[in-house]
Amino acid sequence: MTILDEDDAVAVAMEAFGIERRFINCYHCEACDVEWTDEWSCACDDECPECGRDFSPYDSDEVLPPDRMDHDVDRIVAEITARIALKK
Ligand SMILES: [Zn+2]
Repeated sequence: MTILDEDDAVAVAMEAFGIERRFINCYHCEACDVEWTDEWSCACDDECPECGRDFSPYDSDEVLPPDRMDHDVDRIVAEITARIALKK
């Protein structure tokens, strides 16, 4: 994986600590006027529960694991971000 920005750095750091990223994605089907949410490891498409069409999430919130503060993720992210800055 090529680290391009801080978001990538967070992903790499969390992977290094074995922390899975979770996202709550919000979907809306215009045809059925149905809204639903689902939890995924990324902001991916989901099927409408009524008509089965695929929709991209209109909103996506990252769920931080409650034990994240037990890990030194922020320090690792800072180090990786500093390394990215040196390469530029
Ligand atoms: Zn639908």
